[in-house]
Amino acid sequence: MKAIILGIGNELTSGQTVDTNSAWLARRLVAMGIAADSFHVVADDRPAVAAALTDAAAKAELVLVTGGLGPTADDLTRHGLADAMGGVELVLDAPSLVTLEEFFRRIGRTMVPSNSIQVMFPAGSRPILNRNGTAPGIAAKVGSADVYIMPGVPREMRTMFDEQIAPLLPTGGQAIVERILHTFGTGESDLGAKIVDLMQRGLNPTVGTTVAAGLVSVRVSARAATGEAAAEMAEATMAELRRRLGEWVLGEGEATMPSVVGDLLRRAGQTLSTAESCTGGLVGAMITEVSGSSDYYMGGVVSYANRVKRDALGVDEALLAAHGAVSEPVARAMAEGCRAKLATDWSLALTGVAGPTGGSEAKPVGLVYIALAGPAGTEVRRTIFPGDRPTVRMRAAMAALNMLRLALMKGT
Ligand code: ATP
Ligand code: MG
Repeated sequence: MKAIILGIGNELTSGQTVDTNSAWLARRLVAMGIAADSFHVVADDRPAVAAALTDAAAKAELVLVTGGLGPTADDLTRHGLADAMGGVELVLDAPSLVTLEEFFRRIGRTMVPSNSIQVMFPAGSRPILNRNGTAPGIAAKVGSADVYIMPGVPREMRTMFDEQIAPLLPTGGQAIVERILHTFGTGESDLGAKIVDLMQRGLNPTVGTTVAAGLVSVRVSARAATGEAAAEMAEATMAELRRRLGEWVLGEGEATMPSVVGDLLRRAGQTLSTAESCTGGLVGAMITEVSGSSDYYMGGVVSYANRVKRDALGVDEALLAAHGAVSEPVARAMAEGCRAKLATDWSLALTGVAGPTGGSEAKPVGLVYIALAGPAGTEVRRTIFPGDRPTVRMRAAMAALNMLRLALMKGT
């Protein structure tokens, strides 16, 4: 079955908004055994929308569309559809009007007349319920193709697709199960070398790697006649990946570095504090991205100036004078001082040169000392991170969390 996905909106063609709806829909289709043939992005322009729908319907059996269903004058998708259906009229759908009026009553607002355009549908099409917003979707036939039009707002689109549209689509006769394993601590090529045999083309499950947000992730996609069989195949490959990738493995699916570290801390019943110089609070921000992090994260000190390292963390003036702020002894003293002052089981400290200015031969841009003080003592790592300022800071913060992750996994 051939499918084409259209994103409609001036904000897409002008580059203001990235078309994430099409990518999301394509992933849903893949999971159902349908591969999208192409994506197209079209402006809020009636003839352009009509032409894109006509073209897509001539080439594919399934056309998924998002955007341009709203009440404003620039929302013209329904008009374009009416044209593509052979110039049919827009007709008011009475039940949808009742639902729309109820929606406004529920949120305590009166409906303005322009909103009623949202319940006008090309003759011969039918509305699709929108549980999260005002504009219903539209199901129609253009030529022999099934066309489903959804609102542009991602939350509305996703619910509508999953609840109203997906159940109507053929499954392609196959079930596909996708799993994703996140790793940290190695590059994509070193990781690839360990699993090169699993990554050969034409295998089932397919195995591929992607890099995002500092993690190398391995995606496993298994196909089989039933969901259970595909899940079993995917799990066998995941188990093999876990075995081969060892302590690089961070977690699966929604797992992130801070969520994994948080789970380990919670399980150990231990607490963490942070003392940050070059990362300016980034480590604390990452940890607190996770809901419930107050269970284990007590707080931190952004000790940018030497005076604050001294006064707030108790770093010895003599250490700062002898070694400079970016040094092994100062990182150690920051972590140990923070651990004592904030009374936590663990403390992470970072001091470095994030750049682009401030580097020297002895202390180049990217040099970061990361200290981890814990129940069994303090370890300090010296690393030179490549990249610009945001990259150095992000990599240093991730490396710091990873140091704690590895220590917690060893149970020290
Ligand atoms: P509404 O009833 O809210 O006006 P609509 O169907 O008219 O819905 P649009 O006006 O096209 O939708 O888009 C609403 C918002 O949804 C946009 O401002 C944009 O933030 C987001 N959006 C639209 N299309 C996409 C897309 N393809 N990918 C990601 N976000 C999108
Ligand atoms: Mg709109």
